[in-house]
Amino acid sequence: IPLPLQGLIDEADYGHILEPRPHFCHKGTWGTAAIVGGDDGKIGAAILASRAALRLGAGRVKTEFLASDAPAVDPGCPELMIAESPLDLASFSALVVGPGMGTGEKSVKRLLDAIHCEDTPLVLDADALTILAEKPELQEELLTRRAMTVLTPHPLEAAKLLRNKVEEVQSNRIFWARELALQTGAAIVLKGTGTVVSLRSGHAWVNPTGSAALATAGTGDVLSGMIGSFIAQGYDLTTAVLGAVWLHGAAAQCATMPVLADELSSRAATALGMLR
Ligand code: AMP
Ligand code: MG
Repeated sequence: IPLPLQGLIDEADYGHILEPRPHFCHKGTWGTAAIVGGDDGKIGAAILASRAALRLGAGRVKTEFLASDAPAVDPGCPELMIAESPLDLASFSALVVGPGMGTGEKSVKRLLDAIHCEDTPLVLDADALTILAEKPELQEELLTRRAMTVLTPHPLEAAKLLRNKVEEVQSNRIFWARELALQTGAAIVLKGTGTVVSLRSGHAWVNPTGSAALATAGTGDVLSGMIGSFIAQGYDLTTAVLGAVWLHGAAAQCATMPVLADELSSRAATALGMLR
């Protein structure tokens, strides 16, 4: 069977994110994203994803930390709403679950709660992917979801989900991204140089943007927040995922030194504003 067309991510694929916002709108127009993560010692990962979601245009972002001693406010980003009690996950326009969330019992339960919000779009990254790799029964639950699911593994996370060696995944990245999309029913963002995006239909793209300046802590957390942001704003799955991946890479391209992850989302927002 011939595989669906593939190519480099192109403006035709993500052009909608470049359209200027209509004059008549308010924050409610742009959705509310929830970020769930940040267990003890890893609060920063959830903050990076949350700030990225806000900067790329979500109307509101609420963050639920798993850590017991989580801060009540992010002093560097007071616009973020930090939840004092568990969020009603089904009420959001998009969920991003996993950055720094840990893999303990509490984290597994919260991941399952999110997967069970079958009508709410869901982006899973980082520790959420580690949990999924350890618990294949949770992976099967993904197949029952009605709303879109996006998984954003780096090569090692993908190898664990595929029960394969990272060298094998890296030697045939498009094949394995497709395989994981079929296995989970989710859209797959296989990160690393030349990020591969595959839909469950088998359609696949390779991202031409990005640079070694991204090879630093936290840039993946920023990407998951960006994808969640575009989904919360109402863009379709293909536009949201391809647009976020392309823009994330483009924002780092002029840098020769690593870009601090939090600075990356600011650069991405500036770049998007200029392209609009
Ligand atoms: P993570 O490993 O989850 O923090 O994600 C790292 C992010 O940076 C992903 O979006 C990768 O695609 C990107 N990245 C890391 N190193 C490179 C590189 N050498 N070239 C292009 N993108 C990279
Ligand atoms: Mg990561």
